[in-house]
Order: sequence, then C-alpha cells, then structure tokens
Amino acid sequence: MFKASLFRIPIPARALVLRVPARRPFAAVSTARPITCRYPRPRIPAAPATATATRPGANLSRPAWPLPARSRQQQQQQQQQQQQQRRVYHQGHFYHDPDGSRRRQAETLLPRHRVVRFVRSPITHGFVLACIGAALAFYFANLETVPVSGRTRFNAYSAKTVRETADLQYRAMLADLQRQGARFLPDHDPRTRRVKRVMRKLIPFSGMGDDEHWEIFVIEDPKTANAFVLPGGKVFVFSGILNVARSDSAVATVLGHEIAHNVAGHVGERMSQQIGTNILLYASIIALAPFGILPVLTGALVNRVLDVVFSHPMSRKQETEADYIGLMMMAEACYDPEEAPAFWARMEAAAGDSQPPEWLSTHPSNETRIKKIQGWLPAALEKRAASDCYTTSAFADRFKRALSLGIVVV
Ligand SMILES: [Zn+2]
Repeated sequence: MFKASLFRIPIPARALVLRVPARRPFAAVSTARPITCRYPRPRIPAAPATATATRPGANLSRPAWPLPARSRQQQQQQQQQQQQQRRVYHQGHFYHDPDGSRRRQAETLLPRHRVVRFVRSPITHGFVLACIGAALAFYFANLETVPVSGRTRFNAYSAKTVRETADLQYRAMLADLQRQGARFLPDHDPRTRRVKRVMRKLIPFSGMGDDEHWEIFVIEDPKTANAFVLPGGKVFVFSGILNVARSDSAVATVLGHEIAHNVAGHVGERMSQQIGTNILLYASIIALAPFGILPVLTGALVNRVLDVVFSHPMSRKQETEADYIGLMMMAEACYDPEEAPAFWARMEAAAGDSQPPEWLSTHPSNETRIKKIQGWLPAALEKRAASDCYTTSAFADRFKRALSLGIVVV
C-alpha cells in the first residue's frame, strides 16, 4: 500500500536522497559481518557508590562519581549554620555576628587620627628626645682608645663578657670540627711545632699573657687557607695556610695579625656595633610597616644596606688595623717584616679571581693590603732594629719577659 502510493505521487529525486540514512561504508560492513574479539573482554564490575577516585592528584576522600545533588533546603540549612557561626573579636571576647552588622560597625584598631595625635604629642617628642639623649650618653661613656693604633672607638662590652662569649663560641667550634671529622695534627708534627715556635716568640710582644690560656689547634685541611685566634687565647690554624706561608716569618705575619685582633679588642667592638645596627634595623621595620612592606623584606634589604654602609667598612678598618699591629709585633719579635707583603702576594695568587669587589667584602683586597704594608715597612724595620735581635742578651731579655708573663703555650 505504501509503495503503491509512493509511485503515484511524484517525489523529487533530491528528497529521496535525503530520506536515505547516511551510513558509513564500515558500518555497512559491521552489520553484514560483525567483528568479534578473539579473546573475550574481561568484565568490568560496576563501580560502587562509595568508591574513591584513584586518578593521581585527586582528592581521595571524595567520591569519584558525581556527587549527589544537594536539595535547596539542605543548602539553606548550611548557609544558616554558617551565618550563626560568624563571630567577631572585640576586647578579648568573641561575639556572635550572624548578619555581619557588628563587623560593619567596628572601628579600626589604630585609626589615622590617633596616629597623628600620637606623633604630634609633646609627650612623644619628649620621649624621643630622652631616648636620643640616653643613646648619645651611652655612646660617649663607652668610647675608648685602641692600643697601638690609637683609634677611638665605641665598645660597650667588658673584656670579661667578650671572653665568656668567645668561650661559648670556642666550645661550639670545637664540637663542630669534631663532628665534621676534622683531624687535629699531633704535637710532633712539624707544622704544629712551627706554629708553636712562632707563637712562643710573638706572645711576649703582644701585651697579653696572664689572662690568656693559650691553646693551639692545627687542623689538617690543605684546601683551607685560614687561621684565627679567639679571645681567651684559642688558636686555630688550618694546614692550607701553612702551605702558602712556607717560612716562620710568613707564619708570624698570619699569627701576628690574628693575635692583633684580640690585642685591639675587635670582637667586643663588633658586638657593640651590632647594638647600633639592630636599633636601625628594627626602627626601619617599624617605620616601613604602615606602608605595607613585609618585615621579612625590610629586614633583608636593610640588613644588606647596613652591611655595605657600616659593617663591611668597619670590618675592613679592623683588618687593616690588625695588619699594622701584627706587622709591628712580628718585627719586634725579630721576624722579617719584608716577608709580610710577599706572603700576601702568594695569598693573592692562591685566591685567583674568586674574590668579591672590596666594597662588598669584609676584608680589604690583597692588593690594598700589600700597598699599606709596604708603606709601614720602614717603621717596622726600625722596630726590628730597636729589638736588637742579633745579640744573646736581647734573646735572654725576651725569654725573661716571657717567663715573667707566665706564658705557657699548650
Ligand atoms: Zn683578620
């Protein structure tokens, strides 16, 4: 019936084409001859409703399948609960603030008008002036003169306090070296004997003796060209510097310089300088906090600026002072002061191009050192000549002086 009616009604060819369902050639193949797998596919069990997601990074506590939609009533209940839990903090107490009205009416802790009133207050001005006056009085009361160089400097710490601090540092350093497995050279090692020999000759001319308990540690470390003497007489020498020194006079240059830091009380001076830089640091943090700058950022920036402006120039000055005092000390102890610039030239060659620019460094460059030492050489040579190093009586005098000071080098 249907076919008969189609033949009777004239239908355009285009409409006929459109009625034919579009079928891809492979689909036709699949209907005629279904593709079957050679091995049956394993059955995948249906996922349980409480299964959790195993995708990397997925929240394992959350179901992997779509969450059941919450009803509108449940959403409203949750919003009400959250509103009821809203609280505001005021004068040490928490208050319920379901509609947020308390928060809107609250005043800022430090309103602008109060800050302005505080800054303009005569009481504030008086307090600031009193603080500045006290700081200046403290500064001038603690000025002193450095032995040998005659420089005036600020030092707020007594020798006893410095020694106690250095003692703690000494114990920590010794424990640290032992933990790192450092090898302390024995007394019979030629390098230890050289260091002790030089120390015995230098100490009588250092002006130190009774209060110091000299102890010498020579550490086997050919890669480290360093030495230091802590307040209290604790001497640490790394074998790397002895390889650069090569002679007793060069070792006297190093040890004279390190002893000179203690003669001039440089540790106490650095601790005192720290008081001033800390005040400037905290004042900067407080002053910049209202502008929204984080204290950590301010601290890092101001610390860097203070280092370049105050700490590093002070440290370089102390190093130069120690070079001068050490040079005079070694000349008096009958070592050759002309060996000092030669030693620093060898240090320059050993350091290579790895040195930072002088203005960023805590130490003067070796070049600057050599120039200054060469300028002091005539005075050092005079000191050496006055020491009468070539007569037996002068040696006996030095020996007696060492005995009277009770110098014992362990
Ligand atoms: Zn130094």
